[in-house]
Amino acid sequence: MPIGMFEVINPSNEQVLREVAAHSEAETFEVITRASDAFSRWRKVAPGQRANLLRAFADNVGRHIEELALLEVANSGHTLTNARWEAGNVRDVLNYYAGSVERLTGKQIPVANGIDITFKEPIGVVGIIVPWNFPMPIASWGFAPALAAGCTVVLKPAEATPLTAMRIAELAYEVGIPHDVFQVITGSGRVVGEALVHDDRVRKIVFTGSTEVGIHIQRAAAKQVKRVTLELGGKSANIVFKDADLEKAAASAPYAVFDNAGQDCCARSRILVEKSAYDDFLNLFSDAVKKLRVKDPLSEDSEMGPLISAFHRESVASFVDESLVLFKGSAPTGKGFWYPPTVLGGVNPGHRLFRDEVFGPVVTVTAFESESEAISLANDSDYGLSGSIWTSNLGKAIRVAQGIESGNLSVNSNSSVRYSTPFGGYKRSGLGRELGPDATDSFCEIKNVFINTEI
Ligand code: NAD
Repeated sequence: MPIGMFEVINPSNEQVLREVAAHSEAETFEVITRASDAFSRWRKVAPGQRANLLRAFADNVGRHIEELALLEVANSGHTLTNARWEAGNVRDVLNYYAGSVERLTGKQIPVANGIDITFKEPIGVVGIIVPWNFPMPIASWGFAPALAAGCTVVLKPAEATPLTAMRIAELAYEVGIPHDVFQVITGSGRVVGEALVHDDRVRKIVFTGSTEVGIHIQRAAAKQVKRVTLELGGKSANIVFKDADLEKAAASAPYAVFDNAGQDCCARSRILVEKSAYDDFLNLFSDAVKKLRVKDPLSEDSEMGPLISAFHRESVASFVDESLVLFKGSAPTGKGFWYPPTVLGGVNPGHRLFRDEVFGPVVTVTAFESESEAISLANDSDYGLSGSIWTSNLGKAIRVAQGIESGNLSVNSNSSVRYSTPFGGYKRSGLGRELGPDATDSFCEIKNVFINTEI
């Protein structure tokens, strides 16, 4: 029996959407038992058939993009445009990893006196723990390659945003993915999340969330030498050199930090601008921020919605020192957890605004004098997830990219995520990589077998 119910709230209007079960430790145990039993069957499904099931799953998600998007707008306050992209990303990620099932090849290694072969074997039951900021894509970055590798999956969505995960599981069952192969269990991190981490039948945890909880999970997982992939916080830099196309850099900078209301681990929340271009950039950036359409996320032209909760809005507001505010964008008043895009200047690198992840629409702008200062300011962070470099000098772009300790950088662009390229963080931004051509490998053990041909 669930230990209770929790309310799922629409952050745009504060209305209760529905109640969802808070499952117990005992129920989580049962779910893991079923996943564990199903593993021996799922891993033996012929590769072509497993690939076809994943393609059918992808197609079914593709047929429900609008439904999933509307569910996410209501549950998470994402703009309709973003939510459509997110549902489409789940479809694409499933299709991409469907292609890896029949390519999970081992090696034949030259050795003395025999033949040596490696096998890639699925790791077992995988627990996937997801945050509330991008419920659909983040879940799929774990479950698609895990299912492709032959693992069974137990997925725990965040308390605030479980609805799309629950619907995606139904879409999987409709096309024949067995129930026990892919299960979604709702509940709290302290109960369901902890139960997944501590159960030794769960052989890997894919965790995306705060660095604090990530460290706690890594410590707990160490007792069983359980594999972990951790995708944690960020405090990324958007570096603008004076030789950049300033108009383009400034026009796109709001989307680099205020997309998803800044609730994005890749948010470029520290803009660093070369001193001689600082004033020009700031004028252009101010125009762009003021034009940003912060409004009902259901409107086709909305560019930014609300924050996820009242509690989170208080946390974001607690960072903002009004005396350092340069300018703000707009935000609706009335119901909903709205917060305006907020730009601050004169922030000392020791200030928590420069160091801590705000996870809201708040950005600092800082001037730098030289290429080396830009690199050292960008690296002056516990985090290292993403970042941008704006310059027309190719050599400088490469030098700076090589100098920054970060997993995902873009030059003259703010895009961090493509399903076909690896994604993950340096330093306290995480451990391991998701997406890209090798993600399936992280759900496999390598087995080496030597065959003596001399007897
Ligand atoms: P969170 O750490 O509070 O929660 C994330 C998930 O972990 C939730 O499902 C929660 O229920 C669960 N959880 C909480 N305590 C747990 C415990 N003791 N054991 C097991 N599970 C537990 O994070 P959040 O507030 O939901 O998300 C915001 C954070 O996620 C930000 O720091 C953000 O940067 C990070 N994030 C990182 C990435 C990335 O790819 N690097 C992507 C998105 C979000």
